[in-house]
Amino acid sequence: MASAGRGRVEVVLIYQSLLGIYGDRGNATVLARRLAWHGFTPELTVVEPGEALPDTGSIYLLGGGEDAAQITAVRGLTADGALHRAADRGAVVFAVCAGYQIVGNSFTVGADDTVIDGLGLLDVTTTRGPVRAVGEILSRWEDDSRPDEERWLTGFENHGGYTRLGDRARPLARVEVGIGNCGDGTEGAVQGTVIGSYPHGPALARNPALADHLIATATGVELAPLDRPEITELRRQRLAAVRRSPR
Ligand code: GLN
Repeated sequence: MASAGRGRVEVVLIYQSLLGIYGDRGNATVLARRLAWHGFTPELTVVEPGEALPDTGSIYLLGGGEDAAQITAVRGLTADGALHRAADRGAVVFAVCAGYQIVGNSFTVGADDTVIDGLGLLDVTTTRGPVRAVGEILSRWEDDSRPDEERWLTGFENHGGYTRLGDRARPLARVEVGIGNCGDGTEGAVQGTVIGSYPHGPALARNPALADHLIATATGVELAPLDRPEITELRRQRLAAVRRSPR
């Protein structure tokens, strides 16, 4: 059972008009719902380009988007500065796909592979890959202290950029089916409280243990497992689908 009265937790959803085309907004919905189930009071702040990000957030979310939108987003976030301050004070940044590329050192866009500076919150670098990575992805979370079932991460990847990790970042997971970062067997990256990852789905709906990991990291509270049969069933179906039809 969730315990009551654990306090307010602000989730900041960033630039949906630019980084909202893959349904990653669902990550905010999942966090808000799970925060409430765990006894917190969730507060969702939606920030659009031109608006300032709050410095009060506990979890900041970035989603997927197209190349041009990605450039606009990184410019806005660089000028704003709040994501850097958030990472410095130990807030969680969870960045998916274009968002993942944005929080890295740099990414390339366009036919001439123009290099665009990222935010530098994750030591990763993205360049155009040989083939677009599209399809169901299955990976295994690197955290071996977790129960075996929780370590399977499922999602849907759709990206042309390939991401390589530098020394300061470590992979989030190992790929079993799909491409992930760049076809080197790794998926996502972790550096302090900043996590980047390719899968949509949205990722936190498909992987509730990852959602709870973000909440636990942001709040410092050890969370009891939640028994939600509908989520267990969704997870069972998605895992079965990717295992049945590996790419
Ligand atoms: N535009 C980026 C790429 O293709 C990100 C795509 C996405 O967010 N799904 O690599």
